[in-house]
Amino acid sequence: MKKIAGLLALLLVLTGCAPAEKHQKDFFAMDTFFELTAYGEHAPEALEAAEALSMKLDAELSAVNPESTLYALNEAGGGPVDSDCAELLETALPLCESTGGAFDITLLRLSQAWGFSGGEERVPEVSEIAELLRYAGWEKVVYEDHTVTIPEGAGLDFGAIAKGYAGQKISELLASYGVESAMLSLGGNVQVLGKKPDGSLWNVGIADPSDEARIAGSVAAENAAVVTSGAYKRYFEQNGVRYHHILDPETGAPAESGLLSVTIIAENGALADALSTALFVMGEEKALDYWREHGGFETVLITEDGRVLATDGAAFTPAEDSDYSYSVVG
Ligand code: ADP
Ligand code: MG
Repeated sequence: MKKIAGLLALLLVLTGCAPAEKHQKDFFAMDTFFELTAYGEHAPEALEAAEALSMKLDAELSAVNPESTLYALNEAGGGPVDSDCAELLETALPLCESTGGAFDITLLRLSQAWGFSGGEERVPEVSEIAELLRYAGWEKVVYEDHTVTIPEGAGLDFGAIAKGYAGQKISELLASYGVESAMLSLGGNVQVLGKKPDGSLWNVGIADPSDEARIAGSVAAENAAVVTSGAYKRYFEQNGVRYHHILDPETGAPAESGLLSVTIIAENGALADALSTALFVMGEEKALDYWREHGGFETVLITEDGRVLATDGAAFTPAEDSDYSYSVVG
């Protein structure tokens, strides 16, 4: 009996005295701040590798950096693609289709005309938008045998999916180093690995789109991406009108869907990122229809008229001081 008690005490000492140590790495990549937090003995070397991977993905997938692989691909109108670009195309094209084109990876020239993907921010002429819209269209992308053909006059843009993809890849990389607990914030795109070191779920705050210093609430998550797209994230103002960076592929102009932000919670970061953009374009009704029809993710919508709608599996808790009304959607 004494022996067992002694063993138990030893176990307690061993587990209790070695809390997983916290390690952090912050750097600039993909046009934003990456803040990576990982716990445990393997974290330092894993985070080193994660930074290198982030830089590699940035150099491959940026549509605006003239040195990138994607930039060269767009200039050439297509060609053979490397494995990350291939995986992104294989994820993105079916999502372009399933979202009815609300998510469309061929809007680069439009986004550039608005000054959101490099260049000067401005409101393009109606005729310019109409012309660029004619060139765009994901249905015209041909992808076969690891070779892509980009529609003439259009360019591929992974801006709405690449950060989610990076979060997912970094999370997998950390896990391969033996890291069991990590929280990655890639410019507000969050990906969590495992649970918190104390065994509880991660709490991921969802920004209040009207005041980014506050949160509208938070979701409890493990092994998931929590990705938000919002009109408040990137915009410019002209003559009192606000123009934001999420384009409606039907009009070629910033989407006006009645939503302020869309958060997607899903295991797959790339899917979460693409869907956050797509459901933002769709608006409340179509977004919830999409969720009901396809599933595989949860969502939190914040509307212009002051409502927060969370799907029943989202594990969302509204902030106590929130000004929004709140309802759960089944
Ligand atoms: P953020 O980059 O702020 O997290 P998103 O994930 O919604 O936001 O991505 C927005 C970016 O995606 C834009 O800057 C542009 O490059 C591109 N984009 C804009 N509208 C669309 C769209 N309807 N479908 C796909 N990509 C888009
Ligand atoms: Mg997105």
